[in-house]
Amino acid sequence: MSSFVSQTIKDLPPSGIRKFFDVAAEMEDVVSLGVGEPDFVTPWHIREEAIFSLEQRHTMYTSNAGMSELRDEISRYMSDRFGLQYNPNSQVLVTVGASEGIDIALRAIINPGDEVLVVEPCFVSYNPCVLMAGGVAVSVPTKAENDFRVTADDIRDKITPKTKAVMLCYPNNPTGAILEHDDLDKIAALLREHEIVVISDEIYAELTYGDDPHTSIASFAGMYEKTIVINGFSKAFAMTGWRLGFVCGPSELMEAMAKIHQYIIMCAPTIAQYGGLEALKNGMPDVEAMRKEYDGRRRYMLDEFCKMGIDCFEARGAFYLFPSIKKFGMGSEEFCRRLLNEQRLAVVPGTAFGACGDGYIRCSYAYSIDSIKEALLRLRKFI
Ligand code: PLP
Repeated sequence: MSSFVSQTIKDLPPSGIRKFFDVAAEMEDVVSLGVGEPDFVTPWHIREEAIFSLEQRHTMYTSNAGMSELRDEISRYMSDRFGLQYNPNSQVLVTVGASEGIDIALRAIINPGDEVLVVEPCFVSYNPCVLMAGGVAVSVPTKAENDFRVTADDIRDKITPKTKAVMLCYPNNPTGAILEHDDLDKIAALLREHEIVVISDEIYAELTYGDDPHTSIASFAGMYEKTIVINGFSKAFAMTGWRLGFVCGPSELMEAMAKIHQYIIMCAPTIAQYGGLEALKNGMPDVEAMRKEYDGRRRYMLDEFCKMGIDCFEARGAFYLFPSIKKFGMGSEEFCRRLLNEQRLAVVPGTAFGACGDGYIRCSYAYSIDSIKEALLRLRKFI
C-alpha cells in the first residue's frame, strides 16, 4: 500500500523526539527530562469552568473563529501584555493549539517553491509544516557563542528573491534563548526593507526569567503589518491536552487562515474555549506561580551543570536548557543513546531540532524537583 502514500509525506523524516522516546517507552525505571510540557495540572478554576460549560449544555460548535467572548479576551490580553491592538472580529483566530496556527499560517502564504527561513535549532514541526505547505525550508543556524540568539546578519545572509517568510520562536524551544530588545530592533530594521512575512511563535511568551517581560516583534515599527503572532494556552496555563491556541495578525492574512481553518477544523473544541476564557480572565496569578517554580528549577539545573563541568549558557526563557556535550567526544545521538542505555535517563539529542543542534542536548525542567535531582545524579554518573 505504500505506493499510495504521497511523495511529500514519504520524504518527511520521522520526528527525532518520537524515535527516541519510542525506545525509552519500552524500558523500565527510566527517568526523563525529555518532554516539553508542564508537569502541572491545569489550575482547578479553569477545569471547573470547562466542566460547568458542559453542565450548561455548551456542547455545540462555536463560530469558526472561536467564541466572541474568548476573542475579546485574547484581544485584551494582546493589548495589555504586548501593546498590540487586534480587532477581535477580524484579527483573532482561535485554533487547535499553536500547532494548527503554525500549519495554517504557512499554508496561507506559501506558493510552491517559496522559501521560508527557519531559525534553528527549532521546534520539530516547523520544517515538516513548510514542506507540507509546498515550500522550501532554509535553515538559519544560530550558535551557542551568541546564546542561540539569531542576528539580523544571520537572516540577511539567507534572504533570496524567493524568500516569503521567516519563522521566529523566542523564547525558544529547544534552547531556552530569548531575544533582547536590541536584537529585535535590528531584525525589524532588516525586515522592514523586505517583503517578507514574519511568523512569530510566542507560545513561551509568559515564561521568561530575566528583568524584562517578553516583547513581541510585532510591536516594532513596521512589523505589525507583516507579522503573524502565534500563541496558545498549552505552556503558560499548563493546558497541553486541551488543544487550544490562537493566531493574531493583519486582516488579509487572517482571512486566508480563517478560510483553511473553517474547512479543516470548523472550530476549536468548545469545552476548551470555555477553559481558555477562564484562564485569560483569572489565571494570570497561576501563570506567575508556575513561572516562579520553573525559575527555581532552572537555576538549580544550571548550577548543577556548572558543578559537573557541563557547559551551558544561561537560558532565560521557556523551560529548557541546552547544554553542550561536545567535550565528551560524542555526537548528540550517541550521547543520548548511551545515557539512556547505561543510566536510564532520557534527554533529547540536539539534532532533533536541526543539524546545528549537534553537540547539544535538550533538558526540560518541566519536571518536579525530585525528578530533576534524580536525573542529574544519573547524568553525573554517566559523564
Ligand atoms: N511551538 C513551540 C515552540 C512548541 O514548543 C510547541 C510545543 O511543544 C508548540 C508550538 C505546540 O503547542 P500547542 O500545544 O499549542 O500546539
